[in-house]
Amino acid sequence: MGQATLSIDLDALVENWRALDALSAPTVETAAVVKADAYGLGIAAVGPKLAEAGARTYFVALAEEGAALRASLGEGPSVHVFSGHMSGDALLLRDHNLTPLLNSAEQIARHFQALPGHPYGVQTDTGMNRLGFEPGEMPDVLSPVLTISHLACSDTPKHPQNEAQRAAFTPEGRASLAATGGILLGPKYHFDLTRPGIGLYGGLPFEGALPVVSLEIPLIQSRLVAQQESVGYGASWIAPDQRRIATLSAGYADGLIRAMGNRAHLYHGDTPCPIVGRVSMDLITVDITHLREIPESLSILNKHQTIDTLAAAAGTIGYEILTSLGTRYNRVYKGG
Ligand SMILES: *Cc1c(COP(=O)(O)O)cnc(C)c1O
Repeated sequence: MGQATLSIDLDALVENWRALDALSAPTVETAAVVKADAYGLGIAAVGPKLAEAGARTYFVALAEEGAALRASLGEGPSVHVFSGHMSGDALLLRDHNLTPLLNSAEQIARHFQALPGHPYGVQTDTGMNRLGFEPGEMPDVLSPVLTISHLACSDTPKHPQNEAQRAAFTPEGRASLAATGGILLGPKYHFDLTRPGIGLYGGLPFEGALPVVSLEIPLIQSRLVAQQESVGYGASWIAPDQRRIATLSAGYADGLIRAMGNRAHLYHGDTPCPIVGRVSMDLITVDITHLREIPESLSILNKHQTIDTLAAAAGTIGYEILTSLGTRYNRVYKGG
């Protein structure tokens, strides 16, 4: 089988949700952010598993994602939509009982016109300048079920913007400011509801997170490459002496981004093996000269190399590694 295996540990996901939940007071509710197909891990498996763990409130980016989530969750949990009420969303919001987080006067007008009486929240901007009402811009006739804002620098605890944004966040009623990073900043940031995403899926800035994904890639063939011969497109790697090079069955179409070429490693058990040459669409080439056997597969995500260490090697962040994982993997859910 040429297909690589992406293992998703749902028990670790639940542990991470519980650990983040335990960081805030019992009166603070812990929600779950499952946008972008639960950060690439599959909303249909992740959504219900978190409900089992105790999550009652979810956040998605798009109304369409909310509809997909509702289909796997059933009625009960509340589902909030970050992009608010966009043109064409009314039936999705109504039929799937989704709560838009309104971002602008235009969205308020659209919502009140299309779905009078349908619950909504609002998003306010406290300094990120991405989504939400500016201070003073929000009409005071509103009665949102939730007011949220988002921190720009919560992965950098000492950044002065954290405190500035917190001070600028003065909502009336039920309120939420903290994503994963904000939870770790402490109780002053928790308000009524926290919104962890990446920490659930095993990523920084939640250092205590259990890894949720592992990825094992089959070896298709291996060959001896003589000194001074090159490997891969552009001949970007030249063998300094005779090497054994393995060709593995996954590439940039599977989210092993090109920036990993000549920079990241795969693992045979505890032994790292460098990617040599450029990453191709469906293939990577790995130096396995130092291994005592030719393995059937190598691992790129494991206890030695997390989404964040792999991201660092490729000059990106764990979020991007996760959400880039392609659709070609054999996805195996543990603890489902
Ligand atoms: C993505 C997102 C979150 C979750 O952030 P993490 O850093 O993944 O925990 C929370 N709130 C908003 C508005 C978001 O866009």
